[in-house]
Amino acid sequence: MKILVVGSGAREDAICQSLLKNDKNVVFCAPGNDGMKLNGIKTISINEDEFDHLANFALTNNVDYTIVGPEEPLVNGIVDFFKSRKLLIFGPTKEGAQVEGSKSFTKKLMADADIPTASYQEFTDLQAATTYLNEEAAFPIVIKADGLAAGKGVYISPERDDALSKVTDLLQGHKFNTRKVVIEDFLEGEEFSLMAFVDHKRFYPMPIAQDYKKIFEDDKGPNTGGMGAVCPVQNISSEIEQTAIETVIKPFVNELYNQGIKYTGIVYAGLILTQDGIKVIEFNARFGDPETEVVLPRLQSDLSEMINQMLHHKKINEITWSTTGLNLGVFAVSHGYPGKQVVGDLGSTDEFRSCPLTVNYASVRKENHRLISNGGRLYLVQTQAEDLDSAQVQVYRELGKMNQLHIYYRRDIGKNSI
Ligand code: ATP
Repeated sequence: MKILVVGSGAREDAICQSLLKNDKNVVFCAPGNDGMKLNGIKTISINEDEFDHLANFALTNNVDYTIVGPEEPLVNGIVDFFKSRKLLIFGPTKEGAQVEGSKSFTKKLMADADIPTASYQEFTDLQAATTYLNEEAAFPIVIKADGLAAGKGVYISPERDDALSKVTDLLQGHKFNTRKVVIEDFLEGEEFSLMAFVDHKRFYPMPIAQDYKKIFEDDKGPNTGGMGAVCPVQNISSEIEQTAIETVIKPFVNELYNQGIKYTGIVYAGLILTQDGIKVIEFNARFGDPETEVVLPRLQSDLSEMINQMLHHKKINEITWSTTGLNLGVFAVSHGYPGKQVVGDLGSTDEFRSCPLTVNYASVRKENHRLISNGGRLYLVQTQAEDLDSAQVQVYRELGKMNQLHIYYRRDIGKNSI
């Protein structure tokens, strides 16, 4: 099959590599990045917001279907656009993508479906939010901008003054174009991610993964896009995993369907295991990054065939996953990330090519046989090993061989699984 993948990060690299396990497939990634080319992926220089060019490419190249990686094109209606051109595309429509694009929409959906999540209030009016924070709220409290904010629109406010200033930034300063905020209870516990393939009423859960979001070791410092991940998660039992499927994914998929939203694509649930059981922190409308980089390598079934079946609304009878060992992926990021960053040379393309482990490339470009950092998350080194110890030894050995000048990485990814 000919498949077009939209996006440019390590997640899209992992999706392409999974599709390429079937050597009959031809896979294009738009826009992709220069690093992916080292993995044999054909990149196409069309940006993810150029729906018209992407659709024309799919048409003129007889692409069988398109897979969308990131949230922005989904929330902006890429699926509706492709469908209007009679093109097959894997992802939710603009309406379905609200599960990620609007926290208020999703909180309401969860309430309708009786899905456990933090209690919340929503506000469009600064005065009402201020009164709530002054008179009713307990601290710490969590303040969320309603729309997409690339992971930056969530604040955990330890006390009232901080909360008031964050709410003012959002509702008066309209930071991230915010018109509405969700203010919810602070939850404590172990976080994990559960993704599922969804085809209208049918869903197929993936094994759970755990993402390490904080920039520094021991989960210190600001949140990032994700510094690394493991799959499976050894500190979350299979009973809890099963409960999460039954009490979160199943009612969520049913509720979408019952509300007339025909959802095809990935549902991602960000979950937390609290003393009162599992609760949902967020839903996303696409594959997680970096969870995908450690989950998809465990898929033994043919991803391209599975997606093809779902796009034709045919039931998938069996999906097989590796049951041995564990997958670990660690991101190398720019010094200073997620703040002001130092960018520069990362090493020769030959050095990267000779890495015996999987490298999923993200924010890099090629200049004269060298990879150069564009800032942010640069590349993820990933392996499957029999246990966490040996996975860490392998990944950190390879990361240690890379040019250290312009990279930083956490040395404790997977620690919660010990
Ligand atoms: P954005 O909307 O800016 O793209 P996001 O969708 O990534 O951000 P969330 O996943 O809702 O935002 O929150 C980011 C992180 O904040 C979570 O992974 C979690 O660690 C923390 N968090 C969010 N909500 C809560 C909560 N109610 N209690 C405790 N921590 C929370």
